[in-house]
Order: sequence, then structure tokens, then C-alpha cells
Amino acid sequence: MLDHALRILKDVFGYDAFRGNQAAIIERVAGGGDALVLMPTGGGKSLCYQVPALMREGLAVVVSPLIALMDDQVATLEELGVAAVALNSTLSIDEQREIAERIRRGQIKMLYLAPERLVQPRMLNFLQGLEIALFAIDEAHCVSQWGHDFRPEYLQLGQLAELFPQVPRIALTATADKRTREEIVQRLHLDKAERFLSSFDRPNIFYRIQPKDQPRKQLLGFLAARKGDAGIVYCLSRKKVEEVAEFLSGQGFPALAYHAGLPNELRAYHQKRFLNEEGLIMVATIAFGMGIDKPNVRFVCHLDLPKSLEAYYQETGRAGRDGLPAEAWMAYGLQDVIFLKQMLANSEGDERHKRIEQHKLDAMLALCEETRCRRQALLAYFDEVLAEPCGHCDNCSDGVETWDATEPARQALSAIYRSGQRYGVGHLVDILLGRDNEKIRAAGHQHLSVFGVGKALSEGEWRTLFRQLVARGLADVDLEGFGGLRLHESCRPLLRGEVSLHLRREPKPAQAARASSSSASQLVRVHERETWEALRSLRRKLAEEHGVPPYVIFPDATLLEMLRRQPGSLREMAEVSGVGARKLERYGRAFLEVLNGGADETPVPVADLRHELVTLARAGMTPVQIAGQLGCSERNVYSLLAEAIGNQQLTLEQALDLPETLLGEIQDAFLEGEGELPAVSEIAGQFAGQVDEAVLHCVRAALQTEFEG
Ligand code: ADP
Ligand code: ZN
Repeated sequence: MLDHALRILKDVFGYDAFRGNQAAIIERVAGGGDALVLMPTGGGKSLCYQVPALMREGLAVVVSPLIALMDDQVATLEELGVAAVALNSTLSIDEQREIAERIRRGQIKMLYLAPERLVQPRMLNFLQGLEIALFAIDEAHCVSQWGHDFRPEYLQLGQLAELFPQVPRIALTATADKRTREEIVQRLHLDKAERFLSSFDRPNIFYRIQPKDQPRKQLLGFLAARKGDAGIVYCLSRKKVEEVAEFLSGQGFPALAYHAGLPNELRAYHQKRFLNEEGLIMVATIAFGMGIDKPNVRFVCHLDLPKSLEAYYQETGRAGRDGLPAEAWMAYGLQDVIFLKQMLANSEGDERHKRIEQHKLDAMLALCEETRCRRQALLAYFDEVLAEPCGHCDNCSDGVETWDATEPARQALSAIYRSGQRYGVGHLVDILLGRDNEKIRAAGHQHLSVFGVGKALSEGEWRTLFRQLVARGLADVDLEGFGGLRLHESCRPLLRGEVSLHLRREPKPAQAARASSSSASQLVRVHERETWEALRSLRRKLAEEHGVPPYVIFPDATLLEMLRRQPGSLREMAEVSGVGARKLERYGRAFLEVLNGGADETPVPVADLRHELVTLARAGMTPVQIAGQLGCSERNVYSLLAEAIGNQQLTLEQALDLPETLLGEIQDAFLEGEGELPAVSEIAGQFAGQVDEAVLHCVRAALQTEFEG
């Protein structure tokens, strides 16, 4: 069974090996069992149902919540030569009728549907009259009422278990928590499903969190080293989204805005451009999210703090879906903390709910002030243990200095207390630095015992300290007033001198601005730039011709491998990961020409020709296609194929594409008499007009090897 799966993986998708749990999952589902698959974004969930779908007889039905997602998947499958369609409300009645007809005739292998459509009695009826290979339920966490993606229609999918007891079902999600998992099992009636849990680590993402100083300048600094890469910049408010998008455009970075307040058409247009064009930056609120399947998002920036680690993980997770290096970058400051706390205080909901939200925010803040490996901390929050520091986050790669902040922290807390627990950070810093100004005098604060005790630290260092005190919950923000600070009970042991406090020291600005060694733009070395751009521009041209996003033609990883391996022939091209039979046939030659600097039409030596022919046939090309690729006559191809069959380099199935009944008739004709196989000329008359003699040669060669060995 695994052999069969691997062959499909190579022939159709062009990949050499399964990743992680894929093989086990595919084996389970292809064998008719149910499965629950938890895998992070970019883990390769699609193959988990697409491969079994191709291994099993009948129609595979895929439930997906978003039209955009479906269209993308269908386009990708079509490019791979798999007959897939999406049934959705944008189709006319006639179009829908035609699709139904094609399905009935068995011409469609994969059907994508929204859940509400699948559970319509007519649709269920229709499907019950067909052979169904499997049901795949994508984004299965949408069944959870507690999550933010809840879709009531998902609740009805449970009935598939009863209506189609013989059909395997596979539910997939990138949402990891236990509660969601149990809900999926229960509501989708997946009690018999085998569970496949993957690590939720995203090893290709580099995490960096910086203190916010001059956010726009910091952002430009980050982007400067990443020109030409696609990315997302998240902001909290719609207004800020528009301002930042405009600012970036003005600075020469192509940026688009996306938020729920934009007219629908404009939003859709921006999303489409982001998917179809390369190197665009989407400045967005969190409304821009699920359904962003673009695999080559190279960075996700946060100019505002997300309100939980769940949100942070999900948003940063949109980077690097293709497995290539990607970055998560965030700037955060005290203002973020104050703002989120205010939002929380003013939000609806009961006390219990608010307490939960508060805990989530605290966990997010803890990650920001984390002095150990960020990845370890992040995964630990999701109950996953990473044994060693990752070596691939800012803390690991730059190192974190901590310092004993016990005394200054006491001074700061004391300044809060003695000034009456109602002043903001600016004023408190003025007190500590002993600044003689109007506001200080008006309040008489020049007489406080803490006035001027903090001259050993700079203004910036004090601000950082206050932020850290708030982030650690030692001080609180007065949310009704004007953001004044108050003491929190938990600071008492510190004030009494019972505990000490160690805080992370802010990195020097120069260090912070440095591009990490994993910077995505460094994927392509300088001397490769020109070829890289040429490959990308060919891809863009083909994508436009086919009306699909560029990554549907080939993902970046495949172009990059072409760049590295420099295939010189179609045979070598077929070995590039991501180049399956159909794509080899459609695009192989065009990309070869770019790589080898224009077409060279020097004739191929016969030995090479043979070798290449075998490769192409194994990759699933038909003789006609091979003839086109190799630039020789069909007759030649057939005779070389017959030879390859004779040498047992190819099986008959690999070489020919004959209807089974016809093949049976030909074989019978050869086997009719006793003793020696008849020569081709003896039976050719029977098949005149049906098949070429060359085909008969191939069949005969295959029979002969069977007899001999
Ligand atoms: P998910 O749905 O889990 O986010 P996808 O199914 O979109 O992930 O896969 C992410 C990327 O990884 C895609 O470009 C896909 O083609 C690629 N991929 C998946 N499995 C493999 C594999 N076994 N070998 C090489 N590439 C793979
Ligand atoms: Zn780390």
C-alpha cells in the first residue's frame, strides 16, 4: 500500500518522501479507517486526504469552510492533472447541473463543498447513489462552539457517520487544544478515528520581539532587508491599518490595506492581489486571516500586541507555510499593554470570562519579556515540551542579558506609591530623574523622598522598567483614569525586600536592527538573483495565462531547488521536488530554457534519449506526450518503449495508456495459439484501425518477459 502511495506522491505531486505523520495517516485512510489529524499550518494536511483519494475508487468529498480556500485547492489540483471541482454558490444552475452530470459519469475525482451544501438532503441523496472514496473535513475546529471560527453548519456533519458507514472520514485541523479535539471527535462522531498528533512547532519561523521605540522606523528597518518578499503587517485598528499602508507605499514598499470596514469588493480585490502578485505587503487587522493559504508569506509583523498567545501563534503561523525560512517580528510597548487592558476592562462578559482573558494576555506579555528561548516558552504554553533551546529565535541567537533590577524596581514602585498612585509613566520618570518642571512643582513632587533618586538610569531605561513591572503584574494600570499606575498586591514581597527581581536588558538598537541570518531574502544568493528573477517572471507569466496564483504553477521551494540543482534535461527536471508528471509535461521545457539560457536544440544522444524516455514514462507521461517532449516521432518512442519493456525497465502500465478491455483483447490474440508467441504482423490485421502496430510490439514485449521470467 505504501508503495502505491509513494508512486502517487511522486507521479502526481512530484515529491519523493512523506513528511511526519503523512504516511501513517494515508495508510489508515486508504485502508478505509477514520482519522483525526492535528497538524500545524504548513505541515502538509492536504496530501493526507488527496493521496488516499487517488488511491481509492470513487469520488472524494472535501468539506471546506471558505470559497477562497476551495478555489485555491481546486486550481492546484487541476494543475497537477487531477479532476477536481468546487461546488459553490457562485455557480449558475446550469453549471451545477453540468458538474453533477460529470460526477455521475465518474469524470471527477475530488469534489469540494461548503458544509451547508453537503448536508442538503438532495446533495446527500445524490452522493448516496455514488461510490464515495472518502470524506475529508478540513478546518474541523469550525465545529467547536468555543473557538472563534465556529460554523453551525459543521454540527450537521456528524450524520455522515450514519449515512455512509462504509466510507472513511478524515477530519483535519491546525488547532491543537484538547478541548477542541474532544469536541471534534464527539460532534463529528469520530469515536473510531485514529488520532494523529504532530508537534506544533514551526521550525522554519524565526521569532523576534522588540521593544517598541519608534515603530515605523523599526518596521522600515526590518523591511529594508526584505524587499521583494511578501508579508503581512498586523495592526489593531482600522485607522492604523490605513495609515501604515499609506506610509509604507510612500516609502516605496508596495502595501495594501485590509480590514472589515473596507467595501467588500475592495477587500476581495486586495486579497486577490496579495495572492496573485509577488512581493506585496498586506497591512491588516485580524480580519485578514483564515483562508490565507498563500504559501510564500515570508514574514508576519505585529505593530500591536495580540491579545493572546493563541492569536499570536495563529497569526505568525501564516508565515512560511511552504517550509522555507520565514520570520515573525513584533514591536511592543507599554502603550499596547495599557490599551489591551482597557479593552478588556470595557468588554462585555462576566467576571469569569474576563479573568480568563486576563490570563491569556498575561501569558502573551510573559512571552514578550521572556529571557529564555521564545520557542520553548511558546510551545510550553500549548503543553508541548521542547527539550533544548531552539537556537532560532532572537533570545537564542542574540543571547539575553539580565540584570538585577531589585533596587530600581523598588524605587519605581515607591515613586508610584508616594505620588498617590495616579500618575502615568512620563511623570513618574520625571520624579525619579529629579526633573524640575511645572507639573512636578504644581504637585509638590520635588519634595518626595524619591525625587531625583534614579539618575543612574536613563529615561529610556526607566520606561522599560515600568513596562516590565506592568507586564509582570507588579504594577497595574488605572483603566478608568488616564493610564496612571497603581501598585499591585503582588509587589509587596519585593518592596519588603524579601525577593529580588531580574529583568531582561534591552538589546542595543544596533543589535536589534540587524537582519537575522535566516532572513528570507537571503534564500537566494547574490549571483543567483538574476536567474531567480527570470524563473519567477516565467512563473508569473504562466500563472497569468492560466488564471491561477503563481505558487499554483510551482511553489518557491521548487523554483529554489531548480536554481540549486540546475537540471540540464527533462529527466533531471523530473527529479526536482514538486515537479510531477503533468507539470513536467506542461512547464518542464520552458523552465529548462530559462535555466540553460535559451533553448539549445542540439540533438540528444540515443543512450540519453532512452534514459530520459524511461524517466518520463515512469513519471506518467503518455507516448504522445513523450514524443512531444523529446522531439522525436511517436513511432520511435514506441519502439524505444518496447525495448524498455523488454529490458524490464518499464512495466506495460507505465509505458502505455490503453483501455483495459482493449489490452485484454490484444493479449488474448497473442496467447491464442500454442507454443511461441505469434509475430506482431500475424495479429496486426485484427486490430487495424484500432491501435498502431507499435503498440502491439509493446504488448508483445511485455508478454515475452512474462514468459521468460
Ligand atoms: P497545511 O494545509 O497543513 O497548512 P499544505 O497541505 O498546504 O499544509 O502543505 C504545505 C506545503 O507543503 C505545500 O506547498 C505542499 O505542497 C508541501 N508539502 C506537503 N507535503 C509534502 C511532502 N511530503 N513533500 C514535499 N512537500 C510537501
Ligand atoms: Zn529559541
